[in-house]
Amino acid sequence: MKTTAIIVAAGSGSRFNSDIPKQFLELSGRPLITQTILRFVHARHVAAGIIVVVGREWLDFFGDAPYGRPFQIVEGGATRAESVFNGLKAVNPETEIVAVHDGARPLVSSNDIDRTIARAKETGAACLVAPVTDTVKTVCDGEITGTLDRNKLCRALTPQVFKVELLRQAFELAELSDTVTDECYLVEQLGHPIATVEATTPNIKVTTADDLLVVAALYDEFLKSEFRLEQEDVTRRAYELKSKS
Ligand code: C5P
Repeated sequence: MKTTAIIVAAGSGSRFNSDIPKQFLELSGRPLITQTILRFVHARHVAAGIIVVVGREWLDFFGDAPYGRPFQIVEGGATRAESVFNGLKAVNPETEIVAVHDGARPLVSSNDIDRTIARAKETGAACLVAPVTDTVKTVCDGEITGTLDRNKLCRALTPQVFKVELLRQAFELAELSDTVTDECYLVEQLGHPIATVEATTPNIKVTTADDLLVVAALYDEFLKSEFRLEQEDVTRRAYELKSKS
């Protein structure tokens, strides 16, 4: 089953306080969005293509990107959900699986991308998640109104991966409002089960300037461990091929 990645990066970054949207700021020698794209380029299961969704003024930013697979730039919408929907309309006919990812999450591991795609191929829908370590309260008018059982909670990260027909159906039936902040929510409305896959890296979403400081501090070590994993993968595949010959 061939997979296309839809990487959404059309947010204005209003919580970041910068003239340039955060996804175009520099991270370890490249634009942050390019670092995110490269994690998908290095994933083994993203063969059908990569679609990056950006604001109109950034459509020419990438030029000819030599990523070795179909690469498209698509204009975003007013909300994240609209941006994802625009990306979904652009997937090529050979695509059977779509992996939706926030452009603002460069710390995603290529291995976690592959693990989430593999799970979605089995079940139809899978979401990369992380445990909740704080105690979480409900609040109204500045007062705590309750405590949630954190053993039943997880943080929904990205990629969120679906069979393409399932996600199309979810978008067709949904009312896209500002409160739709991820695709799992839309698929939940269909009553379709969504498998969880635990993340192995922090997968921080860069939302504030402090987030970028934290991600920048972690990034070089992260890339080293990504490179190590890739080398191990190449060696393992070489041994597999050798044992078959
Ligand atoms: O706003 P939020 O933090 O949920 O954004 C998550 C991702 O969605 C970011 O990568 C952002 O660039 C993207 N986004 C988008 N189009 C919008 C709003 C957000 O592609 N209209």
